[in-house]
Amino acid sequence: MITQHPDISTLMAFSAGTLDEPYALVISTHVAMCEACQEGVRRTDRIGGAALSGEAGVAMSDGARLRLLAALDADDAIVVKSPVEVSEMPVPLRRYLPYGLSSIRWRANGPGVATRDLPVSPGVKSRLMLLKVAAGRRVPEHSHGGQELTLILQGAYKDRFGIFATGDIADHDEDVEHQPIAEPGEDCICLVAVDAKLNFRSRLIRLLQPLFGM
Ligand SMILES: [Zn+2]
Repeated sequence: MITQHPDISTLMAFSAGTLDEPYALVISTHVAMCEACQEGVRRTDRIGGAALSGEAGVAMSDGARLRLLAALDADDAIVVKSPVEVSEMPVPLRRYLPYGLSSIRWRANGPGVATRDLPVSPGVKSRLMLLKVAAGRRVPEHSHGGQELTLILQGAYKDRFGIFATGDIADHDEDVEHQPIAEPGEDCICLVAVDAKLNFRSRLIRLLQPLFGM
């Protein structure tokens, strides 16, 4: 049961084709799992189409135009049509994780926390990574240098915004500070798109940050 969705402005940027690859992947993976957001994307695609037809001469990227033409051609052919079982690997993610989650070679980032960067296309500035937090462990309190999109692929975590479980997405901008704690019972694995390095509060962690590569 998915209860946490991306911000409408993020869905609109996804529709418009203006999101960087890591963000677009996180959103398309969530959309593949979430019927509510499949409907949301259909709606934002329609709004984008209406805005375009009212404004002649708007410059659009090729990608955005292709998406829009596809949307106008077939109203419901924009995203993965049928919601994928959450227990399976969502379709958009398969290209990035062809061997699933069990084959990941994690890099320890501190007690109970590990990450793994996933390759993205050359020239992409933002970062795509997997984050694993051991059951019951906390991620050090941090703020963000930019937008952070976090999609939970396994397990759950809790922070001051609530509980985020498999399929849920946390859509935070740079003003947000939070300290997620993985729920007991199962390691929490998330797919994360970040703009910039995370800014940890504690001086010790800031000093160690370069070592951990976070
Ligand atoms: Zn959703």
